[in-house]
Amino acid sequence: MPESTHLSVPLSPSLSSVDPVLQPRLIVTDLDGSLLDHHSYDFSPATPWLAQLKQMRVPVIPVTSKTRAELLPLREALGLTGTPFIAENGAVIGLPPGWCHARLDRPGSGRDGVVIKYPGVDVGFIRARLKVWRERLNIRFTRMDELSVGEVMELTGLDEIRAQDARQREGSEPIIWQDSEVALATFRDSLEGDGLQLTQGGRFWHVMGRSADKGSAVEWLVKRFTALRGRPPLSLGLGDGPNDITMLEAVDQAVVIRGCHDLVVEPRNASLYRTDATGPTGWAEGVAYWWGRADRRLTTAEKSDADSCGADSCDADNCDAREVSA
Ligand SMILES: [Mg+2]
Repeated sequence: MPESTHLSVPLSPSLSSVDPVLQPRLIVTDLDGSLLDHHSYDFSPATPWLAQLKQMRVPVIPVTSKTRAELLPLREALGLTGTPFIAENGAVIGLPPGWCHARLDRPGSGRDGVVIKYPGVDVGFIRARLKVWRERLNIRFTRMDELSVGEVMELTGLDEIRAQDARQREGSEPIIWQDSEVALATFRDSLEGDGLQLTQGGRFWHVMGRSADKGSAVEWLVKRFTALRGRPPLSLGLGDGPNDITMLEAVDQAVVIRGCHDLVVEPRNASLYRTDATGPTGWAEGVAYWWGRADRRLTTAEKSDADSCGADSCDADNCDAREVSA
């Protein structure tokens, strides 16, 4: 494999050297503007790390606002068909056979045996409630399913096939907000009464079930991983947008990748690194920061924090290691 040549980069030895600690690891990562270049979808700056992580059997789990239909070809291109995925900002979780539980999951119907979980609500319910609130509050927004494929292409820069895939929603609905900030706050409160929430993405606002954000889906997968492997993983999360915040708060170590936007991304995580570079170059920079330096034994440091945080005395507001021990 040509990737083997990448293993000589100075970043790689420390991952191998930390591995004898035997704490399993996993990565959860946003795609657009993070692992993938925001414009070109190039991910070549991240390929040395992807090859290294695959060799070390560290799952790299895409966590994206994209639909399952949009994600599947990217997942193949990235070589991540053996790991789970989270689509529609957490509303859809896909489990490959190795992540399925014989008692809890029905076998996947697809050829690849992937089992799909829906932590939130059906998109039909979301659309119906959006219709109700738009009329009742007299507010202005456009749902993605009200846009033509051509309009989606124009707004997103996607080609026709990708635009069609983007419209294949299962558990969330993107909207274009066309009203005031005040109206947005009222709208958000109204949705909450329906068990729905709003998340800001790069181009759209996303409406989905309350328990269906990226962070909740990541917590669910970490629990599944722990149940299957017998011990919790050291988790590293990477993202560049506000819709990544819950994910970055659900992991042990977080990376905010410098965005090509002015949106505020401030997750509450004491183990946080902000990259200088954007996109996949920033992604590689972030992985290298946490796992690429021989002198950075974060595994040990994080464990001792967690160990000192007894369940009885843990003050959740001041204990950033709580997810580690959960
Ligand atoms: Mg992003």
